[in-house]
Amino acid sequence: MDNKNKLWDDHPSFEEAEKAWDQDALKLKDSHPLKILKSLPEIPGVTKETAKFLKWKSLKYIIGEDKNNLLKRYVLKKPIKHIMSYIRSIIKKKAYIRSGDFFFYGLKNMEQFHSLLKDSRVIVGFSYCQKPHECPSKRFTDQCIHDKNHPVCRQCPIGKIMHALPEEKVIPLIIPTIHYIGEKIFETLQKYPEENLTFIITACELTLKMFTDFGNMAGVKGVGVRLDGRICNTMKAFHLSENGIKPGLTMLLKETEKQFLQSISTLRNSKKPLS
Ligand code: SF4
Repeated sequence: MDNKNKLWDDHPSFEEAEKAWDQDALKLKDSHPLKILKSLPEIPGVTKETAKFLKWKSLKYIIGEDKNNLLKRYVLKKPIKHIMSYIRSIIKKKAYIRSGDFFFYGLKNMEQFHSLLKDSRVIVGFSYCQKPHECPSKRFTDQCIHDKNHPVCRQCPIGKIMHALPEEKVIPLIIPTIHYIGEKIFETLQKYPEENLTFIITACELTLKMFTDFGNMAGVKGVGVRLDGRICNTMKAFHLSENGIKPGLTMLLKETEKQFLQSISTLRNSKKPLS
């Protein structure tokens, strides 16, 4: 992904850069309106039926849909370590800690996450269903050009954060599938064995719950941020979405987005001081 010409670099502080971004996005709203969610559907994060035996369903899904042999290429390379971590996670009463829209894996709260940022390589990932319908990189892809001159990118919540991210030891990702994020985590662990790795990713509640035991199996601490809007709350909708059939838009709730941006600001300050 292209990380050049970040708009945040043109401003003396995170707050001023954000203000300038929001003002430009507001102007473009009239000249280049996007198809947005008119109202938030009131639906459960995971349906009751789907929540039953979810750990078992997740395992079945991860194994059954492993088209790129992720398990063979990474997990089974260290079978005892990974199987033991997986078992420890599934028998744990609370394999993650939830606070509002934030899911903490191996962490207790946001303060602990922030304390990891300085010395870690950090994955910052966005679920593809958060991309606008008009996205120039198309929706069901792992691409994001975050073109500062493109009227869609300049209104896109992902584009905003892409321009705010520092470059040092940060891996921005668009996540099309649960296997994709698993693969990127294992790939990064293998590439930088001496470094700490952490992550902050957006996803619907179902994905965040399905991801738990696999994240714990990899032994990586991080944060999942719950998306709202047209989420997938059944296995059927999830499966369709993982195959690119996802007509609905998802989004972070206002307060959640604000907290997410605070973390990005902390990340930016811990990696590359603003000049
Ligand atoms: S910034 Fe948004 S609209 Fe632009 S390419 Fe990335 S996801 Fe698509």
